[in-house]
Amino acid sequence: MLKDEDRIFTNLYGMHDRTLAGARARGHWDGTAGIIAKGRDWIIQNMKDSGLRGRGGAGFPTGLKWSFMPKESDGRPAYLVVNADESEPGTCKDREIMRHDPHTLIEGCLIASFAMNANACYIYIRGEYIREREALQAAIDEAYDAGLLGKNAAGSGWDFDLYLHHGAGAYICGEETALLESLEGKKGMPRMKPPFPAGAGLYGCPTTVNNVESIAVVPTILRRGADWFASFGRQNNAGTKLFAVSGHVNNPCVVEEAMSITFEELIDRHCGGIRGGWDNLKAVIPGGSSVPCVRGENMRDAIMDFDALRDKGSSLGTAAVIVMDNSTDIIKAIWRLSKFYKHESCGQCTPCREGTGWMMRVMDRLVKGQAEVEEIDMLFDVTKQVEGHTICALGDAAAWPIQGLIRNFRDEIEDRIKAQQAGRISAVAAE
Ligand code: SF4
Repeated sequence: MLKDEDRIFTNLYGMHDRTLAGARARGHWDGTAGIIAKGRDWIIQNMKDSGLRGRGGAGFPTGLKWSFMPKESDGRPAYLVVNADESEPGTCKDREIMRHDPHTLIEGCLIASFAMNANACYIYIRGEYIREREALQAAIDEAYDAGLLGKNAAGSGWDFDLYLHHGAGAYICGEETALLESLEGKKGMPRMKPPFPAGAGLYGCPTTVNNVESIAVVPTILRRGADWFASFGRQNNAGTKLFAVSGHVNNPCVVEEAMSITFEELIDRHCGGIRGGWDNLKAVIPGGSSVPCVRGENMRDAIMDFDALRDKGSSLGTAAVIVMDNSTDIIKAIWRLSKFYKHESCGQCTPCREGTGWMMRVMDRLVKGQAEVEEIDMLFDVTKQVEGHTICALGDAAAWPIQGLIRNFRDEIEDRIKAQQAGRISAVAAE
């Protein structure tokens, strides 16, 4: 288990003082100017050495991403944009950072921006996070008052401004290029890539978009050393990680743990076990609503990291772990996600606009068993026609939960169809 002295987020539960004084007492903003004085190359190399992979879901190596930014400006400014949109069902980890430990993020913004030659950073926060943005804005204000932001930020010689921008509640604005469009004041519709944001991002300028957690861990990694961070987790899956566990566990929580912890240890140590015991576990969505579910019996020994969960046919995603026990109508649960993705599609590409609606309507019928068994394969086939054929990953996000359902619970779908055909209404899900 991760020791308390190795936790990066020491106020995750809001039990301590979240103001600047409290953050400083817990070791944040300590020697920030000294870190910056070591220079861009040193910072980026250390981020690479730490093995940090992006915490927003895709798991792309953070240091490598930073190195894509131009070393010399061609006259255009560079920007860091922090993705605080956190709208995926099940994912609720960044909000704990923003409302209880905001200075970890603010200090990270300064150091990361310096490393990418950016004098300005925008944090794009989900519209529904009202208390979180109030807490974060208050922390930004006190950082300005203390000289940690603005001209000669934290005495580093680097001029740096940090802006907090509120979204309006669209899930698609968590997609990095839709986020940039929204930040520019336009409709939040994803852009075609290339060009990638590092070449032409916000206002056509070099931009890096990073998740809140990816940026908030930066100062501690650089203070304690890349080796320290890399000592947690398996190779290629380094570091500590916030896990957000929800659903049918006795004590749902957000907890910082070492990567590569087993699912069983995560649940038993921090969540008080599965509701009704391990035999009552039906399925787990291990990385936020867009990743395929895994059957309970395959999940108990699962290693919670990027590579191991890929081998289980799923993904670590944002490490938002949704646990479902045997009381769950799994078909209905996945139908609800289909409804969500259909609602959140921006509509600009045909496979997603039409496919999400089509898939949801078939799922509507599968919940009640009002379908033919052959339609299961047809539905799977349509998910494959949507996956990978759209501008952004929302098409994949809509396809994967259904693929997971069919791969793991086909027997249950078929049983329901047969029950409906045989008139055994009690075996069919309620409306
Ligand atoms: Fe919009 Fe969906 Fe296409 Fe993404 S995949 S750009 S959400 S229509």
